[in-house]
Amino acid sequence: MTAGVSFYEDIKNELASIKSEGLFKTERVLASPQSATVKTTDGRELINLCANNYLGLSSDPTVVTAAHAALDARGFGLSSVRFICGTQDIHKDLEARLSRFLGTEDTILYAAAFDANGGLFEPLLSEKDAVISDALNHASIIDGIRLCKAKRYRYGNNDMTDLEAQLKLARANGARHVLIFTDGVFSMDGTIAKLDEIRVLADQYDALVGIDECHATGVLGAAGKGTHEHRGLIEDGKSRVDIITGTLGKALGGASGGFTSGRKEVIDLLRQRSRPYLFSNSVAPPIVAASIAVLDLIEGSQSLRQKLVKNTALFRREIAKAGFDIKLGEHPIVPVMLYDAVVAQEFSRRLYDAGVLALGFFYPVVPSGQARIRTQVSAVHEEGHLLKAIELFAQVKSDIEVKRK
Ligand SMILES: *Cc1c(COP(=O)(O)O)cnc(C)c1O
Repeated sequence: MTAGVSFYEDIKNELASIKSEGLFKTERVLASPQSATVKTTDGRELINLCANNYLGLSSDPTVVTAAHAALDARGFGLSSVRFICGTQDIHKDLEARLSRFLGTEDTILYAAAFDANGGLFEPLLSEKDAVISDALNHASIIDGIRLCKAKRYRYGNNDMTDLEAQLKLARANGARHVLIFTDGVFSMDGTIAKLDEIRVLADQYDALVGIDECHATGVLGAAGKGTHEHRGLIEDGKSRVDIITGTLGKALGGASGGFTSGRKEVIDLLRQRSRPYLFSNSVAPPIVAASIAVLDLIEGSQSLRQKLVKNTALFRREIAKAGFDIKLGEHPIVPVMLYDAVVAQEFSRRLYDAGVLALGFFYPVVPSGQARIRTQVSAVHEEGHLLKAIELFAQVKSDIEVKRK
């Protein structure tokens, strides 16, 4: 007899139910590098509005050249975790460069930001402590918090009244240390955490503040340092946020890798105790060296970020003018609200046929009745790409409306 028949049957049923709810995700297969446009395997070219390639550095020639040079000088991989024989000079250099850029004392690299968040809370907090988390925080923060023994509190998204209530509650319950943790930028909405107000409340209740900067590093603030810079929380070059996690996989070149940055003693303890750091491989040398080249680029000039800001303003203005509801704000994440999940899916499919790559998001990823196409603007777009995409959005909208009448 075959073993596990009912197990495999259950899996098939689960898949069938995901499909019947219309929630089955398929992958679009690309046959080109990441850029303003991408090619699919059938040779079609699409305007890309869904990469986290905010500064257009994912296939930037300077970055690619730095990766090539490191491939030759330091090899393809390290076949080791950091503390055995997986630390090269360039790993230490990148950690120092990230600390300098963010205004912190030290930084620890991880294979991904998912791991940075996954390995953050458990070594730092015990059952005597409390962590207060924004309701819209990223899955990796939620998982990281689940792995630690601290008492968990949750506040409504960016709701400072609720945050204060949770701080009071944590204090009333006798918490020793209290850590407030939030996304700097909320990835489904493009809204920015009210970090300045969070800092004030944290000081009032003697709490620490941590932020996940995956959609903010390189994007927000006059020098692209992130949400803390944007909200005025860098003083004399020093971060007033206690803990910063982030990714190398979005604006900073888009390959992979993550980090946690903060006070030296925090980073020292993470190197001793953080499980994804201790038990998982080092970031590959070409990625490390290319990330240093990315920091050279963004510290050397603000031109890419300025183009991103200009493109974002143009796209936000013109798509609203074309009659679409967007979530207001200033971040290059621009959610185009369609509300209905079926409409959002059909809209995305028709955009794809018309030559625009942009995905629909619906429940459970966003609240029910809040389905949307999430678009993301990049410095690599030219005005023509963005205006053409908006024209195609309008065309798809009128096609769908005609069909419904
Ligand atoms: C993308 C993202 C992550 C995961 O980053 P990886 O480096 O790809 O693991 C974590 N947190 C937030 C808020 C993100 O947007």
